[in-house]
Amino acid sequence: MMKSPVFLWERRRWVAAFGLAIGSFLALAGSGWARPRVVATTTLIADWVEQVGQDRIRLTSLLQPGMDPHIYEPAPADGVALERADLVFYNGYNLEPGLMRLIEATAQGARRVALAEILEPIVANEDGIPTPDPHVWGNVENVILMVERIAQELAELAPSEAAFFRANAAAYQAELAELHAWIAQHIQTIPPPKRILVTTHDAFAYYTQAYGLKMGGFLLGISTEEQPSAQTVARLVAEIRALQVPAVFAETTLNPALIQTVAAEAGVKVAEQELYSDSLGEAGSGAETYIAMMRLNTCTIVAALGGSPACP
Ligand SMILES: [Zn+2]
Repeated sequence: MMKSPVFLWERRRWVAAFGLAIGSFLALAGSGWARPRVVATTTLIADWVEQVGQDRIRLTSLLQPGMDPHIYEPAPADGVALERADLVFYNGYNLEPGLMRLIEATAQGARRVALAEILEPIVANEDGIPTPDPHVWGNVENVILMVERIAQELAELAPSEAAFFRANAAAYQAELAELHAWIAQHIQTIPPPKRILVTTHDAFAYYTQAYGLKMGGFLLGISTEEQPSAQTVARLVAEIRALQVPAVFAETTLNPALIQTVAAEAGVKVAEQELYSDSLGEAGSGAETYIAMMRLNTCTIVAALGGSPACP
C-alpha cells in the first residue's frame, strides 16, 4: 500500500527536525567536551591561567581566597578534580605540601607543571637548611615568565586554540610589565632609611629584592607551619626597635595576633590594611586579581612607610 504524500512530508519534516536537533546537540557537546580540564592549586595561579585560557578551558582552583597553602589539608573534592584533570598547574618549591602529595598520588593521567620551579629561586635559610623560597610571584617579572609557560602548556593541550592563548598571554604580559614599573616607581617614594618590610612570615623576599626594600626579621620562616618560640618573639621585638621602622605588617592568610603582640611590645604600629601574601582576596576586597593584589600591597606599604600615597 502506498503511503500518503502528507505522511511522507510529515516524516521528512520530522527527520529533518530530528537531524537538526542532533546536529546542534553534537556541536554544543563537542565544544563543551573538547575544553580541557585544567586544575590550579593556588588562587594566584588560577588567576594567571584564567587570563590566558579564559572560556576555552575548564578551570578549577583548589584553594579558595584567604586560605594558607602552607598548611592546607586537601579535601576529597580536590582528589576528584585532580583525577579528572588534563593539566595541573601547581606552585612547587614546597609552597603547598599537602596538595603536592595529593597531586603525586592522584593526578597520574594529567600533565603536571610546577610553575615556580621553572625559575631560579632565592634560597632561604630554614632552620640551617638551604631551602628554595616558593613566593616567586613577589617579583612581577617572574609572573611574566610563568604566564609564558602557561600559554605554551595550554597550546600543547589544545593546539586549535594556540593563537588565542598566545594573544591573551601577550596582552596580560604587557599589563604585568606596566605593573612592574609602577611598583618600582612607588617604592622609590619611601625615604630610603624607611624602606624596610617587617611581616609575620618570610613571603616577600622576591618583592623586596625586585623593588628595593630591605626585609626585617620574621616570626615565622618561609613556611607558616610552626609557632614561634618566646625567644623568637623577643628577638624580633629587639630587631624592630633597632630598625626603627614606622610600621610592621600583618598578612591576610595568617592570624594577626602574633605580629600585633610584637608591634605593641616594640612600640610600632601595625599597618591597618593587611598584606596579601599567599592568596588573593575575597570578592569586594580590592585584591581579587594578582594585579589588584600587588597594587593594593604596594599602596599599603608605601603609605605605612611614609612614601607618597600610591592609591586614590
Ligand atoms: Zn607563604
